[in-house]
Amino acid sequence: MPKKIAAGNWKMNGTRAAVSEAMAIGQADAGDCVVILCPPATLLTVLSDARLALGGQYCHAETSGAHTGDISAPMLADAGATYCITGHSERRADHGETDADVRAQTQAAWNAGLIAILCIGETLEQREAGETLAVLEGQLNGSLPDGATADNTIIAYEPVWAIGTGKVASAAQVAEVHDALRAQIGPRMSLLYGGSVKAGNAAELFALTNVDGALVGGASLKAADFVPIIEALAAS
Ligand code: PEP
Repeated sequence: MPKKIAAGNWKMNGTRAAVSEAMAIGQADAGDCVVILCPPATLLTVLSDARLALGGQYCHAETSGAHTGDISAPMLADAGATYCITGHSERRADHGETDADVRAQTQAAWNAGLIAILCIGETLEQREAGETLAVLEGQLNGSLPDGATADNTIIAYEPVWAIGTGKVASAAQVAEVHDALRAQIGPRMSLLYGGSVKAGNAAELFALTNVDGALVGGASLKAADFVPIIEALAAS
């Protein structure tokens, strides 16, 4: 059985003033779910006492070197991370990261002992052109290195048009994609949905056969919003 996972992505949000939110998220009644928080890298060591698994939001493909402003997978691991998001659509859009870049970053995460949370997702234009499943298959083939297992990788399906927009994909849209991805990745790897997940839509999404949890952006910033999502997953 794939693990049930609730992962929060704080993006470029959060200073030490937000530590109390993370601590409160760690108090959620998570049952058999894994709760992961991916805060800004500046907070990783600060959150070492939270009852949460920690993740980075990105890692460079190399372990060290002349890459001003970047962060490597061994640095994230050293700061307490056990997971790392790779291929988030905001990185792909803001930093021009290609599938090949994401593949190298995912490999770097594994090399440092991190579990990769690999994100894939189609744009609205691609969905409207009927290209969704082909785009996702291509992204997965292009960005997932050989050697992916349920122990080193989690896949997050995040339609670009649903991230931070308040537009959640319908249950039918998510089911269609997750069923296709499940056929591609096999039975054990956790498959998350991400894109405007909130307390009000979480239970319907978690009821779907091939949805093993969520990657949550905006609604992970406050314990009052994220804890009900975690609890809906635990109850699913
Ligand atoms: C994300 O950033 O991965 C995400 C899903 O964001 P939001 O939940 O805010 O749409």
